[in-house]
Amino acid sequence: QTDVKLVKEGPEGYMGEGFFSTNLDKVVGLARKNSIWPLPFATSCCGIEFMATMASHYDLARFGSERVGFSPRQCDLLMVMGTIAKKMAPVVKQVYLQMAEPRWVLAMGACASSGGIFDTYSVLQGIDQIIPVDVYVPGCPPRPEAVIDGILKVQELIGNESLRRRNSDKYKQLMESYGIQ
Ligand code: SF4
Repeated sequence: QTDVKLVKEGPEGYMGEGFFSTNLDKVVGLARKNSIWPLPFATSCCGIEFMATMASHYDLARFGSERVGFSPRQCDLLMVMGTIAKKMAPVVKQVYLQMAEPRWVLAMGACASSGGIFDTYSVLQGIDQIIPVDVYVPGCPPRPEAVIDGILKVQELIGNESLRRRNSDKYKQLMESYGIQ
């Protein structure tokens, strides 16, 4: 067909009259980002705000993430919300290791991101000391709007991630820096 006109170049590919073209990275990214299955690892107050985020008023289902799970093997987004004591740190890491690739991590609130107000010997000063974090959501606690914004940031990452990233040397080095083979 010689009279095909390019109408629009969108984030997902090229669209025109009667055709659409894209690449595999973008198709897979589109599917993944709209079907994130979160694993809520909630230890304290931030977890309560997550409940509000899931409820009907904010309705995380609008973003394809209503299917929360507690089996690491069936989830792809670890959401850590709350204070993580140093004794709890190995458990967080174990849960992360039990998740299959590709997996992402969101630190919700000041405690998960940096220890928050608990600058003390018994509290982990941020989960990025033990596992790689993709998105940090600030606040004490963050409001549901901020949590949704964090999920959208994760979606952006997922949508733009190359399928080859997880096999790259850079990614392997990142994992090795956390003692993960
Ligand atoms: Fe609680 Fe604030 Fe820590 Fe969230 S960041 S767990 S609200 S103390």
